[in-house]
Amino acid sequence: MKEGNLSAPTRHPLDWTSESFYAETALFDELERVFDLCHGCRRCVSLCQSFPSLFDLVDESPTLEVDGIDKKDYWQVVDHCYLCDLCYMTKCPYTPPHEWNIDFPHLMLRAKAVKYKNGQTKTRDKLISNTDTIGKLASIPVVVNTVNAVNNNGATRKFLSKTLGIHEDAKIPEYHAKTLRKTYKDLIGREADSTTAGEYTTGKVTLFTTCYGNYNEPQAVDDLVRVLQHNSIEVSLLNKEQCCGMPRLELGDLESVKKAKEANIPEMVRKIDAGWDIIAPVPSCVLMFKQELPLMFPDDVDVQKVKAAIYDPFEYLMLRYKEELMNTDFKQSLGKVMIHSACHQRVQNMGPKTRQLLSLVPDTEVSTVDRCSGHDGTYALKKEFHEASVKICRPVVNKVKQGEVDYYGSDCPMAGKHIENVMGTGFETVHPISMLRKAYAI
Ligand code: SF4
Ligand code: SF4
Repeated sequence: MKEGNLSAPTRHPLDWTSESFYAETALFDELERVFDLCHGCRRCVSLCQSFPSLFDLVDESPTLEVDGIDKKDYWQVVDHCYLCDLCYMTKCPYTPPHEWNIDFPHLMLRAKAVKYKNGQTKTRDKLISNTDTIGKLASIPVVVNTVNAVNNNGATRKFLSKTLGIHEDAKIPEYHAKTLRKTYKDLIGREADSTTAGEYTTGKVTLFTTCYGNYNEPQAVDDLVRVLQHNSIEVSLLNKEQCCGMPRLELGDLESVKKAKEANIPEMVRKIDAGWDIIAPVPSCVLMFKQELPLMFPDDVDVQKVKAAIYDPFEYLMLRYKEELMNTDFKQSLGKVMIHSACHQRVQNMGPKTRQLLSLVPDTEVSTVDRCSGHDGTYALKKEFHEASVKICRPVVNKVKQGEVDYYGSDCPMAGKHIENVMGTGFETVHPISMLRKAYAI
């Protein structure tokens, strides 16, 4: 047996349709096995609150071992996991092909799926993971101002905290009546005029706008459209799109993930077959199509086709740079910039593309902070987890403050807003793609 993996981690498909996946005794046996190995290792203690919760349970148990923990307390570990994937991708030496075969995030996902199937998932969690429906309702023109006012009012936030369990200090995203898809409805279903294909890219990009990009931060996606067009890339939108399913995955609601897949994948494949590449502006959504759906549906050729054709915005632009097809005529320097490397972008294993690209801007110094922000979808919103999310975010905030930068931001716009909220200084986050637009002065 090897002490640790010397090979690249490989991931097994998720056996989520089999009955044994949901068998509680087998699940708890596997949790005990993996928790025991983690207790012997403890390498992941600084990543999130799941591991400290586990190690505290061990240290307080009568045997000082995992066998002394009441199995009901295992849920404390599961509930603190927001599936960022960092333990698997950046720390664990015992991932497959190592014979210990540890995939901590997917074990947590299995536990969440069992909890969901047993009807033990909170109503609040189901509600706030329904990003499509909330976005559609909240962005109705006569409703949007009320929603934003309620979300920013101290008294109503106290009420929301008491009734729904949304922490009163958590930043609730703003909603916009002019969504991205409304602003750019002329790009829906558009055909390309002329394109310059490179070795890796077609030069035709269809945007999967994402719920957050469409309803909450259309400006950042608008900046992406302008940057792509400034690089002579044809841009279109899908005829229709739904939430990628990531918030449902994080709940363990795997049937809803399947429904989202059935809605989105045929639309994307139609575009890919017509020669378009796909970009999504939120790392979690890209990861959904690059990793989670292919592991849930390993035999679905269309899912594999989307996996091969979807890109992070900076990954795509760096490919265009490699093909010598990127516009590097920058008009404005950005000074000192700090980029928070979002977990779901890091685990895509594509390298620090945002830093590399922004470093091309003259007189611009780019540094990164490679720690989790603690926002993680809905974790920071929840009353019982908000404090933990702030604790996780502190090292990021300290680094931004110490950096005395001109701009800071995260490729994950939600993480950017959470960092801004925890900073509490009024120094606003700027999405890296918006920084790039500033550098072009367009
Ligand atoms: S996936 Fe992320 S949140 Fe979950 S246990 Fe691993 S590091 Fe913690
Ligand atoms: S997930 Fe792996 S690296 Fe992290 S504590 Fe467990 S065994 Fe150690």
